[in-house]
Amino acid sequence: MKFTFCANKTCSTLLNIARHLIATQRASTTSAAMTDTNVLKTKLCIIGSGPSAHTAAVYAARAELKPVLFEGWMANDIAPGGQLTTTTDVENFPGFPEGILGGELMERCRAQSVRFGTEIFTETVSKVDFSARPFRVFTDSRTVEADSVIVATGAVAKRLPFTGSGDGPDGYWNRGISACAVCDGAAPIFRNKPLAVIGGGDSAMEEATFLTKYGSEVYIIHRRDTFRASKIMQSKALSNSKIKVIWNSMVVEAYGGEDNKRVLGGLKVKNVVTEEVSDLKVNGLFFAIGHEPATKFLDGQLELDSDGYVVTKPGTTKTSVEGVFAAGDVQDKKYRQAITAAGTGCMAALDAEHFLQGIGLQQDKSD
Ligand code: FAD
Ligand code: NDP
Repeated sequence: MKFTFCANKTCSTLLNIARHLIATQRASTTSAAMTDTNVLKTKLCIIGSGPSAHTAAVYAARAELKPVLFEGWMANDIAPGGQLTTTTDVENFPGFPEGILGGELMERCRAQSVRFGTEIFTETVSKVDFSARPFRVFTDSRTVEADSVIVATGAVAKRLPFTGSGDGPDGYWNRGISACAVCDGAAPIFRNKPLAVIGGGDSAMEEATFLTKYGSEVYIIHRRDTFRASKIMQSKALSNSKIKVIWNSMVVEAYGGEDNKRVLGGLKVKNVVTEEVSDLKVNGLFFAIGHEPATKFLDGQLELDSDGYVVTKPGTTKTSVEGVFAAGDVQDKKYRQAITAAGTGCMAALDAEHFLQGIGLQQDKSD
């Protein structure tokens, strides 16, 4: 079960300010490849700080690529460490049978990157120039010239701003409201309880179907009278007797339970055609209204799909620019899990190493 105590972005800000100061100080003293105060040369620059970025960093550092990693400074409003810093227990990452706090898992990933020699800057990349090699990566205070780049900037689950949906003292975010059914659906607070999913795409169908394993019934609340989900995903969901659809409707308020006001007890749902507001008693609500990949800073220099995700060559992490690789949720709109992000981070480091070998900048080394 995931409850927010001090795991969200607000609570981790102090820790990050301290880290920022230390990183800034360290940056001014340790860069062997610094040619002047603000330009740093590296074989590999990694942008991002989630499981994909740090897995890439561990592999690349062990291959002696001496990677430089920009972990961001509240990039997309998320602390360095990425999406897992916004949650509490992670129970499906192998190696932690009792589960591990998301923030702690990411601290450990970061420590492992540092241990093998990754140079980390707590700065957000604002701009890149992939038009020629060496590629150039810019933050507000420095420029990196890199022979290869891994983009691992992740994505942000979209949320809705109705009354009671937030993570403040009056909100039920992480107290019944979540944006990841696969991550949170098995929590005891949802077992044999009525649950709801908002959305009408493949994610909503998949999450609702998944949640029927745990909930007593699952409502799909959708703002229109047709789903955009693929036919096959729709039929799977609609043929499940535990799933009921509430069409043409939007949630306007979330409120607390009768026994425990601090966890979700129900929703006020408005029919957008009749404008009637009705009451829906549910103990879980899952947003499945899409994700926003963090690709704006790329400014069109890599091929993106229609939803803004980086396009990679199937089975690899290669992007449309030779020498630039992408890993994690920034290129994955299907699986979106910490372990799949880590897996593609490993692939990106190996792909980068092979690329550097191909252009004569890296000895043939095993990892
Ligand atoms: P992200 O975790 O998305 O992190 C990328 C980070 O890079 C950003 O957050 C930011 O800090 C940094 N960044 C972004 N842009 C820039 C930039 N321009 N410059 C520098 N840095 C930048 N998965 C599980 O497997 N198990 C779970 O239990 C689980 N629980 C979850 C709970 C919640 C509430 C959420 C939102 C997600 C959860 N997930 C879980 C999904 C998991 O967190 C993601 O799949 C995973 O974190 C994706 O990793 P990533 O490496 O792609 O990057
Ligand atoms: P989509 O963008 O496809 O769907 C988002 C849904 O959320 C839409 O139904 C949309 O409504 C609704 N929505 C968006 N904003 C709001 C809002 N403000 N209020 C209420 N509802 C809102 O996102 P998905 O995450 O479902 O899918 C993304 C991509 O990933 C798709 O290409 C999908 O095919 C793919 N995917 C594939 C899977 C699979 O094959 N197993 C599983 C999951 C995703 P409306 O329809 O009215 O616009």
